Amino acid sequence: MGSIQKKPHALCIPAPAQGHINPMLKVAKILHSKGFHITFVNTEFNHQRLLKSQGSDALHGLPSFCFETIPDGLPPAQNPDETQVFPTLWKSMDETCLGPFKSLLTKLNASSSPVTCIVADLFMGFTLDAAKELDIPEIVLWTSGVGALMCVHEQHNLLERGLVPREASSFLANEHLDTMIDCVPTMSERAKKASAIIFNSFYELDSDLLDALSSVFPPCYGVGPFKLLEKEIDESVEFIKSNLWKEENTCLKWLESKPKSSVIYVNFGSTTVMSHQHLLEFCWGLAKSNCLFLWIIRPDLVDGKSAVLPPEFLEETSSRGMLASWCPQEQVLNHPSIGGFLTHSGWNSTIESISSGVPMICWPFFADQLTNCWSCCNKWEIGMELDSDVKREEVSKLVIELMNGDKGKEMRKNAIDLKNKAEKACTSPFGSSIAACIASSFISLVDL
Ligand code: UDP
Repeated sequence: MGSIQKKPHALCIPAPAQGHINPMLKVAKILHSKGFHITFVNTEFNHQRLLKSQGSDALHGLPSFCFETIPDGLPPAQNPDETQVFPTLWKSMDETCLGPFKSLLTKLNASSSPVTCIVADLFMGFTLDAAKELDIPEIVLWTSGVGALMCVHEQHNLLERGLVPREASSFLANEHLDTMIDCVPTMSERAKKASAIIFNSFYELDSDLLDALSSVFPPCYGVGPFKLLEKEIDESVEFIKSNLWKEENTCLKWLESKPKSSVIYVNFGSTTVMSHQHLLEFCWGLAKSNCLFLWIIRPDLVDGKSAVLPPEFLEETSSRGMLASWCPQEQVLNHPSIGGFLTHSGWNSTIESISSGVPMICWPFFADQLTNCWSCCNKWEIGMELDSDVKREEVSKLVIELMNGDKGKEMRKNAIDLKNKAEKACTSPFGSSIAACIASSFISLVDL
């Protein structure tokens, strides 16, 4: 490796949400371990949240791994701990961030280490406009499942050809339908400007979709699971963390005392909000299953109020349940005591579960979670779906089936099989993810 000035310099910019920051930080760490100088760009809002949850040391960085911020364009939040509404945030950033982002690039380019490539989330599409203008190559990171990008592409086609009504067309449907529909064509068109699109997935998992997408978009590569490539990451950046909530590590200790594959892990990610009634259905479903459980309940998990669990439930399950508000999920999923995962099917949770060989019960909420759930249940046969209007009887039935039933056993076998394939993809010299890293500009930049 040459002098500091000759280091390639990657600017990594995630979309401002937990499920987007985590995989981008992994990409940044991988590039750093390959000799890149890194500038990691958060929104000012999230930078403040990270400082609060992780402490300033975790974001202090290193001379070769720096943090920068840009404003998200929204008025100051009343509650600095609140989870921002993603569609509103996306719209605001799309309308306001190009200027501040270009100023940042100009500042960095005037330094001794100009930016040699940008790795950006596709939701940060304005970066592609800046990259083109300043003639900097850009790789797009798609942080959802591969199937979700195919949905974006097909939805764009159907809308353009007038084959579906607007209201019924969005696989990203939620209460912010219009904003999300508007963002789909933009995303689909912008994706075409990237030098490559990389996924936190691996070829064996979605070869059909990766091949099909590569014929309409720039080359699409499964270069993950990042969690398994992470083994390559140098220790100097291990301390840099991206959790917006403070982790409670006591649950790892609790897991230590539990038998192999005996605990169901329940976590609905960073954005899912459920009704109080649904919370009660999960409570009593878990209680009825009689299984050991580790349940992560974010302070803002329940719509409109803080999640209060019935005292009778707490009493009844105190000897076999562990509750926490945020946990080190990857370590939890990797723990031998975990036998199943009740999840909202966010892509990071899904690929982290696959990387640990853990089968799932899926309760998708919106956006790509529906596609991820479908793939788990129908394509990979590692998941069972819960009805959206969840009832306690169904929760306990599926938990018992997953943890003790024949179907659960079969799904665990399939999940372990996928985990082995993922490991091979990431660690064997001819593994598909290693090959994809070499074939994509991702690693050719690494090899500079
Ligand atoms: N996560 C975590 N601890 C928790 C809950 C979530 O570390 O208690 C991490 C999880 O490992 C994953 C991310 O937060 O990397 C959630 O992303 P995902 O795509 O699954 O869901 P989202 O939060 O975007 O809906």
